[in-house]
Amino acid sequence: VRRKLIAANWKMYGSCTRVQDFLEALIPRVDPAGPEVVVCPPYTLLPVAVMVATGSPVAIGAQNCHWAEEGAFTGEVAAPMLAELGVRWVIVGHSERRRLFGESDETAAQRAAAAQRAGLSVIFCLGETLEEREQGHTFAVLERQSKALEGLEPNVLAVAYEPVWAIGTGRTATPQQAQEAHVFLRRCLAELFGDSAADTVRVLYGGSVNPGNAAVLLSEKDVDGALVGGASLDVGSFSDIIRSAPEPPTGA
Ligand code: PEP
Repeated sequence: VRRKLIAANWKMYGSCTRVQDFLEALIPRVDPAGPEVVVCPPYTLLPVAVMVATGSPVAIGAQNCHWAEEGAFTGEVAAPMLAELGVRWVIVGHSERRRLFGESDETAAQRAAAAQRAGLSVIFCLGETLEEREQGHTFAVLERQSKALEGLEPNVLAVAYEPVWAIGTGRTATPQQAQEAHVFLRRCLAELFGDSAADTVRVLYGGSVNPGNAAVLLSEKDVDGALVGGASLDVGSFSDIIRSAPEPPTGA
């Protein structure tokens, strides 16, 4: 049984005091026996976030990393620098990075590999645009994007299915649309890693998840968690989403 994973993507929001207050309120509400919880604030907030979350059941993640260990890459941050801080996760290939900052399947793959080499776990984002869905290309796009996962270590990998049309739009995939895409992605993972490894990789849903729709999405068999943007900025709504995850079956 895959333990659910609920991750907060703060995007370019927040401040040191805000992340500190958020984590101090969140940590006592997180049940260590419940879903795994990761909070990904902007780079500059990572040191304070790690300081507050150390020793708690909440892990801290970054929203990107470079593919080189170091080098002449002004403005970039390397994965070992994140690891040194105590960051444990990194989001890679988010659609905002693909759409606005020239991220490709190739560069996302390189960043993910660098993150894993530095000892970080990866949340690798993929998903189709509205146009691709309307033209019936959803599965072809997911298959192409998931090929970028080849060579990664499945034990420290989660995949986030984030249909671009659902991100920040208030428009959520139906539980059926999510489940269908997740089953397809798990088949792609099986091609890459074999059936038993594919069975252990968490496939998260992302796209306008909120306390009102989280429970139905998270109760789908192959929806192993959520990557939450807007609704993760408020500790009440983020902890409600965490609490919406169904209990794992007993004896598992
Ligand atoms: C995201 O940024 O990964 C995301 C899913 O955003 P939102 O929840 O705001 O749609």
